[in-house]
Amino acid sequence: MMQFIDLAAQYKHLKAKIDKRIQDVLDHGHYIMGSEVQELEGKLADYVGVKHVITCANGTDALTLAMMVLDIKEGDAVFCPTFTFFATAEVIAYENATPVFVDSDEVTFNICPIDLERRIQATIAEGKLTPKAIIAVDLFGLPANYPEIQKIADKYNLKLVEDAAQGFGGEINGKRACGFGDIATTSFFPAKPLGCYGDGGAIFTNNDEYADLLRSYRVHGKGADKYDNIRIGMNSRLDTIQAAVLLEKLLEFPIELINRNKAAKKYTVELSSQYKTPTIPNGYTSSWAQYTLVSNDRNSVMQAYKNKGIPTVVYYSTCMHEQTVFEYLGYRKGDFPVAEKLSKEVFSLPMHGYLEFIK
Ligand SMILES: *Cc1c(COP(=O)(O)O)cnc(C)c1O
Repeated sequence: MMQFIDLAAQYKHLKAKIDKRIQDVLDHGHYIMGSEVQELEGKLADYVGVKHVITCANGTDALTLAMMVLDIKEGDAVFCPTFTFFATAEVIAYENATPVFVDSDEVTFNICPIDLERRIQATIAEGKLTPKAIIAVDLFGLPANYPEIQKIADKYNLKLVEDAAQGFGGEINGKRACGFGDIATTSFFPAKPLGCYGDGGAIFTNNDEYADLLRSYRVHGKGADKYDNIRIGMNSRLDTIQAAVLLEKLLEFPIELINRNKAAKKYTVELSSQYKTPTIPNGYTSSWAQYTLVSNDRNSVMQAYKNKGIPTVVYYSTCMHEQTVFEYLGYRKGDFPVAEKLSKEVFSLPMHGYLEFIK
């Protein structure tokens, strides 16, 4: 059976370089905040075109740190898509704020700007919560509609966070993902477009004040001195070994991205007569975190692929408003018709930079 995401093929290809980088860390022994961490932050900032990159322990912490910097707290409303990975909504509730869910765009599967504005207006009209921020998600690698979302954020004086856990490598008109909004976050979980060999994450911002706060929050709210703590923070650093792995993977990333795009093109050519294949709007590029199809007969289609030795996975079968833990928010079935339909019909095909059929 072929692999859904073939990490072994990637490691085989990069083995000599990655082994050397890891050995360097073992030799110098600075396992926490070794020089590779700062080197990686610089390279990531150059790649994306932002002023500051602050690495951290994982993509969920990256979002949590963003929430802390934006001072998200009880009584605040933070708008996010209902069709996403749980962490996007989790970090809002973790700060005791209220996630306000938004339906998806039927074509891109990303947060729908029209429904976003409707939900913001409804929240203002209700008057119980203070609208504070939007978390948009670059779902399956396609950047969300930032030109429209940024306008809405400005109109209602909301902060905008880009959850680019799946989005690293995408673009809108030449501007790279992780560069949108006030703060962007990503994840280096092994299966993401740019993955390490464990957990990892990063935060991106052009705001000097946010960057200073983030560097403090990720190390227990430290002040100028490590043992002078001036605020409550977290212990959320990227391991030096993971930074070393990422430095090599980042060098290879542009080629992998080309390969992912080739694979996506090939899928689309083969499958567009049978399925609704992914739509990439003009001016956008996807990092192809997933190649996702829609079928109203998903179970049989997935079984047929399985019989041919091709693994498929459903991302995501449960919307955030349907999660048990969010029952208290009082949403009902039918509140998010597009997202609910997607959750019942989407499935994803194998996608990585080493698929045999693109050779
Ligand atoms: C993976 C993911 C996260 C969380 O990243 P971790 O590194 O696993 O904590 C957050 N948001 C989205 C959209 C993701 O896909």
